[in-house]
Amino acid sequence: MSDTPIPFGKPQLDDAAFDAVRAVLESGMLVHGTVTPAFEDAFAARIGAKEAVAVSSCTAGLHLTLFVRGIGPGDRVAVPAMTHVATAHSVELQGAEPVFIDVDPATGNMDPAKLEAVDGPLAAIMPVHYLGLPCDMDRINAVAEAKGAFVLEDCALAVDSKWGDDKAGTLGLAGSFSFYPVKHMTSIEGGMVTTNDSDLATELRRRRAFGYNRALGERARPGIYDVDALGMNYRMSEVEAAVGLSQMNRLDDFMAARSANDATLRAILSEIDGLTVFPDRIGKALSSHYCLNAVLPLDGSVSRDKVVDGLKDRGIGSSVHYPGPVPLFTYYQGKYGYKAGDFPVAEWLAEQTISLPVGPHLGPDGAKRVGEAFREAYNSAIA
Ligand SMILES: *Cc1c(COP(=O)(O)O)cnc(C)c1O
Repeated sequence: MSDTPIPFGKPQLDDAAFDAVRAVLESGMLVHGTVTPAFEDAFAARIGAKEAVAVSSCTAGLHLTLFVRGIGPGDRVAVPAMTHVATAHSVELQGAEPVFIDVDPATGNMDPAKLEAVDGPLAAIMPVHYLGLPCDMDRINAVAEAKGAFVLEDCALAVDSKWGDDKAGTLGLAGSFSFYPVKHMTSIEGGMVTTNDSDLATELRRRRAFGYNRALGERARPGIYDVDALGMNYRMSEVEAAVGLSQMNRLDDFMAARSANDATLRAILSEIDGLTVFPDRIGKALSSHYCLNAVLPLDGSVSRDKVVDGLKDRGIGSSVHYPGPVPLFTYYQGKYGYKAGDFPVAEWLAEQTISLPVGPHLGPDGAKRVGEAFREAYNSAIA
């Protein structure tokens, strides 16, 4: 087996990506071109959504959607306690209040029973498909319906995740994807909001670019516009779209490699006593295999720092998803007064989880190397 280091993630950029970037740079058309709409069409088709709206990041897409839907002060929005801080920040940015829901110890996803138990109104629910495994969308959508809330999926790790016959990004009102370099596919920075609601898509397009109104009829001239709404600048550049579009041709290969690597690594980890490994499929949910989380025993008998250092010594990169329950990050704790013990499952994950790579950069024997390195590092970290 080779001993080249394996990082947690590595963008896969081929000649086609370089050529596409060069073509955009040579054209001089760096924004407002034809590549972004082509990327939107290809992505919408892949996900099976009516519309896809390119934005500058997943966070921008989440925020823009809440903004367009008028979420604001006085509104309460349910988000899982274990997620990227972006999910909660998008709510805070609108002056609304995140209602943190602890996660299910069997999946790491927003616990539907705890969501069902929320007292009082909710304006929106933001399920996060943890590491690519879809949340229980039947129960989440039922709560949304009962409360008159809309559902905005955080699909940052959920490209091609499936719930029955449908894909993540089509399971609520809208879903926001991330093309950050080490996610399933990249556009450098970038994101995409998918929706089956064409009116919402129109509004997202207008508001991602200042709220311009170009429909001036007789008065229409280059550079002349009216502004009839508030908006951001959350556009995607043509260079980013060119990289993203070039990745679409490789997505089948990326996903096949992730699924195979996950199976190889999972088989090795399943032999290790005391380790929790979340399923990659359960009921109607099928994961997109973003990474494989090994969760160490709750009793702290195995030191995470030692396992991570042991992996590093063996040339294997790892990560943590995510390093804190969001409500216990300094900002949220200071603002809302949450305390240790409020979100026990999310706290366990934040303390004891290690994310292992399964991406296409692993190559043929990579998943086996990651698994064997993990077994050695784990055994030598037992107290
Ligand atoms: C990475 C990530 C984000 C942020 O994505 P950006 O494109 O960097 O804004 C949001 N939510 C989750 C769950 C993520 O993992």
